[in-house]
Amino acid sequence: MNNFDHYNSRDLPALRQSSRQVKSLLGTLNEFAEHQATAAGYPEGAVVTKTHTYRERSSAAAQRKRTAAFSSGSYPCSGCRVDYLKKLGEGAKSLYQCHHVLPLHDDTEERETKEKDLLVLCANCHQLIHSKLANLKLEKVQKLHRGTSAA
Ligand SMILES: [Zn+2]
Ligand SMILES: [Zn+2]
Repeated sequence: MNNFDHYNSRDLPALRQSSRQVKSLLGTLNEFAEHQATAAGYPEGAVVTKTHTYRERSSAAAQRKRTAAFSSGSYPCSGCRVDYLKKLGEGAKSLYQCHHVLPLHDDTEERETKEKDLLVLCANCHQLIHSKLANLKLEKVQKLHRGTSAA
């Protein structure tokens, strides 16, 4: 007797009924598992200690650059031209970051940072410039915000 004969010898409606029950049970189990996963949430907030090795940057140069940039109470981001300082006031200063135009990791020597080597950008544009997304340089970020192709 081969497999088909085995199944054919059984009561087909009863088999269909069992099959539906199994399917339904599996569905219920999957729903339950899904619910458990969602209800349990994802654990966050564990304290992690990270160690970074980085080249020291002159915070004095960045500080001077920022002070000069914000002196008029208005500062359109060099990337997107959004003037968070004017729109949101003093507190918006924290939204701007100093970008070093000349990357340090290219050379092994210590170098002096001039204020002209720094660029004050909003955090978003700063992220974009450092993003590997499209190897965006400042001009590309500016084009992106002007609506022309960033390519
Ligand atoms: Zn920006
Ligand atoms: Zn930067």
